Amino acid sequence: MHRTEGEWRQLAGEMDARLEYKEGQYHFALTSPDENLEEVHSEGYFDGKIFLNSPVIAGQVADDLTELLLSEMKQNGLPAIHWVVGLEKPLVENIATNLTVLTSRPCLWTIAKKEGDSRNKKISFKDPEIFRDRNVLICDDTFSSGGTLGILTEIVEKNGGYVLPVYPVICNRSGGKRFRGRQIISLVRECWSSWPASKCPPCKNDSRAIRPRSEEGRKLLRES
Ligand SMILES: [Zn+2]
Repeated sequence: MHRTEGEWRQLAGEMDARLEYKEGQYHFALTSPDENLEEVHSEGYFDGKIFLNSPVIAGQVADDLTELLLSEMKQNGLPAIHWVVGLEKPLVENIATNLTVLTSRPCLWTIAKKEGDSRNKKISFKDPEIFRDRNVLICDDTFSSGGTLGILTEIVEKNGGYVLPVYPVICNRSGGKRFRGRQIISLVRECWSSWPASKCPPCKNDSRAIRPRSEEGRKLLRES
């Protein structure tokens, strides 16, 4: 492993990929409110894409996730992993390359296309037929309530593929350990609370809900 969980969490903080609620100042409007129509607010924020923007860190993220998932899957006899899929190319491609080298079996990868906004997410593959009778590993940068992983799982299964029993993610911010009977493997696990905006305690505590990647959010973070 390149880093322990504590060291990954610390690096995320240093890179502003991980932020926490500051009382009376700011908390976070999540950009992925899933199927909810109301905006979701949270006491924590994690942006795995910041890691993936650095080729060196992206490689290390994939190395550590591959190591964790192989040690988990070897306990039940490692099946062939034919495809690695997800939305983030640096994550998907690096994990597939690692698996090809470490298992001495060719592991292919493909990226899903995402359209629409976070409330009306449309995810698709150019040629989902490739998954028929193949074992497919699905990964993502952040796990919140499973919106993206759920959609990807449905596409693979609908096209006759088998979704492997682990989901590697950089940050699992749900607090839980499983999703749809499969295990979530993460570098960093957080138990942050989230609320619909109308019932959000930090809002009632004079804290502003910010989107850290928006211009306004960046400005507020700099000033605080
Ligand atoms: Zn709020």
